[in-house]
Amino acid sequence: MRRIFTTLLSAALLLTPATAASADPAPKHREPGNGPERNEIAALIEEPASALAATERAASQGAVTLRHDRGYPRRTTLPIPPENPGDAAIKLGLTPYHAIAGKLNALQALGDRVSAEVIGRSAGGRDLYLVTVTAPESAADDWKQELGRRLIEEGHRPPRGYKAPVFYNSSIHGNEFEGVDGALRVIEELATSTDPAVVKLLKSARLYFNVVANPDGRIANTRANANGFDMNRDLVTVSQPEVRAMRQIMIDVQPVAMLDLHGYVNGTLVEPTTPPHGANYEYDLFITNTWANGLNLESAINGLGYTPAADGVNPVEIPFRDYVDGWDDWPPIFTPQYAPFHGAVIAQTIEVPLQVNNNAYNTLPVAELQRRARINTDIHATAVRGTNRHVAANADKLIKDQVEWFRRGAAGEPHRTVPLGIVPGFGPEDVYGTTFPRAYVIPNSGPAAARLVDFLVANDVRVGRALLPFRAGGANHPAGTYVVDMRQPKRGLANVILEAGQDISPRVGAMYDISGWSHGLLWGAAVQPVTDSRLRVVSTPVAAAPPTGSVPSGSGPLALELADGKDVQALNDLLRQGVAVTWKDGSAVLPSSARPAARTVADRYGVRFTRGTAGGTALAPVRITAAGSADDLFTLRELGFQVTPVNAALLNAGYDWSSTDVFYVGSGLTYAQLNPAARAALDAYLATGGVVTRGSTGTRFNTDAGLLQATAVTGNTDGNGVVRMADGSFSFVYAPHWFTGLGAGVEAEQSYATEGPLVSGHWRADEDGSGGPEAARGQAAVISGLDERGAAVVAFGTEPMFRNHPKGLFAQVASALYWSAVTSGQTAATP
Ligand SMILES: [Zn+2]
Repeated sequence: MRRIFTTLLSAALLLTPATAASADPAPKHREPGNGPERNEIAALIEEPASALAATERAASQGAVTLRHDRGYPRRTTLPIPPENPGDAAIKLGLTPYHAIAGKLNALQALGDRVSAEVIGRSAGGRDLYLVTVTAPESAADDWKQELGRRLIEEGHRPPRGYKAPVFYNSSIHGNEFEGVDGALRVIEELATSTDPAVVKLLKSARLYFNVVANPDGRIANTRANANGFDMNRDLVTVSQPEVRAMRQIMIDVQPVAMLDLHGYVNGTLVEPTTPPHGANYEYDLFITNTWANGLNLESAINGLGYTPAADGVNPVEIPFRDYVDGWDDWPPIFTPQYAPFHGAVIAQTIEVPLQVNNNAYNTLPVAELQRRARINTDIHATAVRGTNRHVAANADKLIKDQVEWFRRGAAGEPHRTVPLGIVPGFGPEDVYGTTFPRAYVIPNSGPAAARLVDFLVANDVRVGRALLPFRAGGANHPAGTYVVDMRQPKRGLANVILEAGQDISPRVGAMYDISGWSHGLLWGAAVQPVTDSRLRVVSTPVAAAPPTGSVPSGSGPLALELADGKDVQALNDLLRQGVAVTWKDGSAVLPSSARPAARTVADRYGVRFTRGTAGGTALAPVRITAAGSADDLFTLRELGFQVTPVNAALLNAGYDWSSTDVFYVGSGLTYAQLNPAARAALDAYLATGGVVTRGSTGTRFNTDAGLLQATAVTGNTDGNGVVRMADGSFSFVYAPHWFTGLGAGVEAEQSYATEGPLVSGHWRADEDGSGGPEAARGQAAVISGLDERGAAVVAFGTEPMFRNHPKGLFAQVASALYWSAVTSGQTAATP
């Protein structure tokens, strides 16, 4: 092994993860057009143009919190963006983004019920609007409501007059347009309606609308935002500013009910979902209320009278009742699967029926598109109205159940097993659960621990910092150690973030999306569950993790081990400043003269320098040409690399390789696509530059371009989750790959463990018995070597940058890039 990168063995402290028992490979039922993305969509996303954009990105790390210094209505005048005739909504007869602010300003002026506020900005820099519809309130009323919310969060009944909060999230997928228009229509009705039911509703509820959750995608006719991210996969990572805003809404308003407005499934899809069900919910409270509203919405939507024959509209489908599997609420990456952790006892995706996006948008006549969009808007508006009615009629029960949800957490009660038949059809296949540890202990060990603690706090999970040394889990822990006491209202969220997860492969045939994630195992910090019920820690609540950076005193060279993405950011910052850095045995070495610069980046990124010894190879900023997916580009840039995105067309047009140190291939490029001139140019480049590859696209490119001699094996392409590696560390896979038959000079940097290797997730063998975790045991997962033309090559069969999630793995990619850059083109072999 070359030791190209450092793996973090300290994260290996965990309980043995549970493997779910019983087995039933049921037939799968997956709706077309909404299947999982496999991270194989290539992206040509340019770097934000100005330094200002980077600054704003940094500033937007904190979302806007709702203020409590005034009542409702708030009468904010929203700035109106310039008119954009290219807005994709226009063709559908729907509201373009630029018209929304003006509309909301007019609705605010119409009466005293509608308030609109800017709560953040999209990746593309566009305002996000939170609309609140409620009967007028004084500032004192607003405070009373906020105090009621806090009482509920502590597991207590709120005072009389507490209004039930409801949250509507519109069109998080930008090209699922009608959620925005359905919400706007209902807001407009509510603004002036004299219907006594509406008057009563607005006295007993606060209705919150994230009116246009994805402005970038709406305008550009894309599912993703301007960073290329599917934000309805980001709730457990929160890499995108729009998702930060949504998370903050859910924390601040603590909705009893939420709807996430999507398209397109015909008949209209209304959750609750199939199994597997999220193991960390108080699922009895969730399923009873969500099922009731599901039936309520089914009847309201079917009652509109659209028919298959006349309108092409099929009746409502409820996955929980109508499907076997494939539409689950297992990973909290989706908005309605995240909202329950903040007390939403109703949380549902709504998929309206008639497709207007993608191919339909480009091929159907405008009149047909607009007919479809009208029906879809009608259905979304009906879902919102129906939920409003349901909440008005059941507000006391919904609030009571939210209180109970938080009370169980605060009391540290054992997780409850949901009784069979609690709603019709709730069978053994629906029963999922967990055993909460007493606490999680997180040593205050550096930037990774600080990042994890800050993430927990941003999710409204309570973290303490020990004031005195304590003993837990058979070990002594110093003062300053972080403790997540699981006797807290949002213990479900704490656990879903920190736990190892479960291997659910035996229980479920098909999953909608990922099945494994774990900040505890993948974010680089050591996280130790403690089961001792007598835990005693004197601690103080953490609002933000204290600084972690340090530089040893005295003089002499400094070393920075690249163990974390923060180390990479610091190193790239130093390189951009022109500091003379060398690369030595997988670490960066700085001369003594660079101590002031080291202190600056230690403060900025929280990194810890150690004493080093001079030597190694001079390092310059690594310039990357990348055929990558959006998350590849986003993560590499976040780490501070200069990245130029390419595809086959750009390479075939005569690409200038002279400013490239490493070619990254992760998505959207095959060697076969390259014309002879492009292949010749690539050959010439390989004499001086390096290559780093990822995933199936990367391994295929490695083979086809004749880079490293190895046979790439692709496991089950649906398999995904957290895996154990032979060195005791953990990694993440999606469509896992491994390498056999390594040629001379090709080495395994990392191998799958011989035990497992799946820790949590869903990864079965293919139908012929191959491609499963057993086949991957002990096999090389990441390989490196020198191409015969001179290029230093690293091929990842793992997914170390997947959706920007596994932050503890980012440094592996960065280290591969540095190694490749300094090693390529040298006749002397490996370091
Ligand atoms: Zn969607």
